[in-house]
Amino acid sequence: MTFTLALVGRPNVGKSTLFNRLVGKRLALVDDQPGVTRDLREGAARLGDLEFTVIDTAGLEEATDDSLQGRMRRLTERAVGMADACLFMLDARVGVTPSDQVFADILRRSGTTVIVAANKSESNASEAGVIEAYGLGLGDPVALSGEHGEGMGDLHARLAPLI
Ligand code: GDP
Ligand code: MG
Repeated sequence: MTFTLALVGRPNVGKSTLFNRLVGKRLALVDDQPGVTRDLREGAARLGDLEFTVIDTAGLEEATDDSLQGRMRRLTERAVGMADACLFMLDARVGVTPSDQVFADILRRSGTTVIVAANKSESNASEAGVIEAYGLGLGDPVALSGEHGEGMGDLHARLAPLI
């Protein structure tokens, strides 16, 4: 079994963008449980010398307000259950939102290994958000820009001891 990292967080923080960067064209496996394929994508990731499996939690984007909380909880819990560690992604330009706090609570309660990623950190406008991310109590955040490929060395440094 390869090490599995789940990308977790509210819609629009940049999970799929980072997933695509880590997986490139190696997107392969999908979970074959009904109802899961749409919402969880699994791929073979590479980051320098590290090879691992990455799970992208999606599908929350189409949820109605009514079902959003329940859906995000179920989906996140399922991804957490499949993963050895979670990359909890925030939009550092926005800072920590109430929705982020919901995810933080799920992760805290799960007892899983969490790396907080303050994503979209390619500009100075993100600094306050990175600092806010320390306040989640889930460990020091790593500042990333999945879109621009920044902070990948820092992410590698955080993952290497786990893998
Ligand atoms: P997801 O809903 O969490 O999967 O987020 P997506 O990967 O679909 O990204 C949502 C939006 O954020 C898209 O418009 C991306 O282009 C943008 N985005 C993703 N990563 C970054 C980043 O590192 N910096 C910036 N500025 N935008 C990003
Ligand atoms: Mg997505």
